[in-house]
Amino acid sequence: QEETIVQPRNDEKRILSHVAVLEGAPALSEHWTLFDTNEALFNEARSTQAATIIFSLAQNNQIEGLARQIHALRRQRGTALKIVVRENSTSLRATDERLLLGCGANMVIPWNAPLSRCLTLIESIQGQQFSRHVPEEISTLLSMTQPMKLRGFQKWDTFCDAVSNMMNNTLLPADGKGVMVALRPVPGIRIEQALTLCRPNRTGDIMTIGDNRLVLFLSFCRVNDLDTALNHIFPLPTGDIFSNRMVWFEDNLISAEIVQMRLLKPEQWGKPLPLAASKKPVLNATHDGHAWRRVPEPLRLLQDAEERAS
Ligand code: C2E
Ligand code: C2E
Ligand code: C2E
Repeated sequence: QEETIVQPRNDEKRILSHVAVLEGAPALSEHWTLFDTNEALFNEARSTQAATIIFSLAQNNQIEGLARQIHALRRQRGTALKIVVRENSTSLRATDERLLLGCGANMVIPWNAPLSRCLTLIESIQGQQFSRHVPEEISTLLSMTQPMKLRGFQKWDTFCDAVSNMMNNTLLPADGKGVMVALRPVPGIRIEQALTLCRPNRTGDIMTIGDNRLVLFLSFCRVNDLDTALNHIFPLPTGDIFSNRMVWFEDNLISAEIVQMRLLKPEQWGKPLPLAASKKPVLNATHDGHAWRRVPEPLRLLQDAEERAS
């Protein structure tokens, strides 16, 4: 329904920006107009042709709404518009950045770029024509950000199915779907015990056990971030729990390993230890978003009775 309308681009120099982008500085020239909200900015931007539109992203719950606004602007206003997202305070997941760029943003400026660098980046896209294809339906793009709804332990065959579904999903980036890692416990630790220390937080992070190995699939994790992710997932250094690790991160190598894994007989599939056996976690630790913290347990040195007696 919408078509790229070629009209005089007399608004080429205009810069419409969320006020937060300038970090408290006033408008930098007559070309700048500042808006208190992305909503107000979006409404004004709907009548622009070739202006620069700078949204601010401060919380990750704004991502979807912002994606919809960018998608609408790009589809309805055409390719001369320069659409920028400035991260304020939060750090976006790579999948979120891909979503915003897929919806038609020219650029996402990271939170740690200082204002001066941010302004240089905005300058750098002046005169640019947006040339990537933007799908008509935004749902196509949104479904790519969390294709796997599972988290945590899965039976061996469920795990294999879930990972092959990811690998066969052509909407997801080639060789960028995640990392698979197989870990063998150190002598003296059973695989079922090692499993109790594996606590993925993020939806899309799954694991299974079998053949004395723990196999993890971390959705969208890049191989250079593997240690960061494993530190989020295990409360102990993985070197203390596992003696051997194998890593796969390219689509065809992950798929080939899944083919091998499917050959394992159901008798060799591992089962988690029954939960009822221990109410207390193996390690009394919680994750605060940055690191694992052991939770102190109060300990009384004297019995109540003795205390009262003294
Ligand atoms: P970070 O925590 O330093 O993680 C860097 C990268 O390691 C992540 O990049 C991701 O590829 C991988 N990674 C880390 N932990 C996990 C995990 O538990 N599961 C998986 N599958 N991958 C993991 P990404 O996704 O681009 O995120 C960039 C940064 O954004 C993160 O850096 C973190 O600071 C922040 N972030 C992303 N998601 C969340 C979240 O849900 N909560 C919080 N608190 N921060 C998040
Ligand atoms: P989720 O994706 O299932 O992640 C659940 C929890 O795992 C997060 O809780 C956080 O404690 C941990 N986590 C996951 N990935 C990372 C990471 O890369 N780094 C660090 N440090 N921690 C990570 P949190 O932060 O309370 O987030 C709850 C939910 O909010 C998440 O569930 C996700 O649905 C959403 N969310 C949070 N941050 C982001 C983000 O940057 N991008 C997107 N798309 N969603 C996010
Ligand atoms: P880390 O600093 O290498 O400390 C490792 C472990 O030594 C801690 O595990 C804890 O059991 C013990 N420990 C170290 N310092 C103290 C201390 O001052 N008092 C007591 N009672 N025990 C101590 P934990 O608690 O699981 O912490 C794991 C990691 O989390 C720490 O490794 C550190 O990197 C971080 N962390 C924990 N608490 C804090 C904190 O209060 N401040 C900072 N900056 N980091 C902390």
